[in-house]
Amino acid sequence: MGRAGYSLGGLRGEARGGIKCGICGGAGGKWAKRYCLRCRRLLKRSGDAKAAYVAALQKAWSVGDDGFLCHYSGVKLVEGGRKDPWALSFDHVVPGQKGNLVVCSFLINVMKAELSEEEFRVVVKEIDRHWKGQRFRKDVIGFASWNKAALAARGRIRRALAITGARGNLGMPGRLGKPGARGVKGPCPICGAEAKKGTRYCARCFRLQELRGERVAARKALKRAWDAKAGGFRCHYTGIILEEKDRKSPWYISFDHPTPGKKGAVVVTAIFVNLMKTDMSEKEFRAMIRELAKKFKGGVFDKSKLEFKYYHRGVRPKTKK
Ligand SMILES: [Zn+2]
Ligand SMILES: [Zn+2]
Repeated sequence: MGRAGYSLGGLRGEARGGIKCGICGGAGGKWAKRYCLRCRRLLKRSGDAKAAYVAALQKAWSVGDDGFLCHYSGVKLVEGGRKDPWALSFDHVVPGQKGNLVVCSFLINVMKAELSEEEFRVVVKEIDRHWKGQRFRKDVIGFASWNKAALAARGRIRRALAITGARGNLGMPGRLGKPGARGVKGPCPICGAEAKKGTRYCARCFRLQELRGERVAARKALKRAWDAKAGGFRCHYTGIILEEKDRKSPWYISFDHPTPGKKGAVVVTAIFVNLMKTDMSEKEFRAMIRELAKKFKGGVFDKSKLEFKYYHRGVRPKTKK
């Protein structure tokens, strides 16, 4: 008699005793849990307090979309796995600062790298502005979390360079002393400075071109990036003169394949832009920045403008053992 209040359906599928999921509001407590199975799957995380993950999911939940929306793009996210660029991931609003989480797409999470939300928004808008013909204003970003995170990010930076094909063997200059190079006189073919002994290049360019495996392409990229008037190399994507010595600087010089994996075509760019571009081709990257900037200025992010032909090539944040 006492069971009269329960329907069979209620016992099996619906929330028992009317418990609703504390995140999505759906039929939650199949086994009288606070959250439904779908949300609980997403909560299987570690690092931050569970409450932070719950809060992030609650904020991202959209009843109308029956899903979680990316904090940065507003795109409905794919739950489970990382194979999709729109896979749901958790992002620290300020890198390394626990407890302050948002939900965003895995790809945008990778793009944001060591930037705070504030910095990320500023950078995206600034790059977009620059691509529309304005000068990139370097001082709009403080990179407050960059320096602190740079050491921890070193593996990440190395991976970024690995993605672009860099060898990272800064030494071994002996290999450059090819027969014929010795004794060649004249200015450095890249920057015009006096050549270093035993090579055609000046000491500065000699060191830079050695950053990577594809030396010929690297030289060409350096030559294209060289600004004689400013006395430095300009970033292909921002036009800013790059840092050549401080490897921890976000503006540290790096090489990028405009088309991921396509050897022989290389440009010079700041390491933070390189990280931001990740697995995208230049065209894809430009479309992504354009859509994000639009969204950050109050517009609508148009997912259909994007394609990810090169996605998941080397992007997984796992260290090789
Ligand atoms: Zn739920
Ligand atoms: Zn030179």
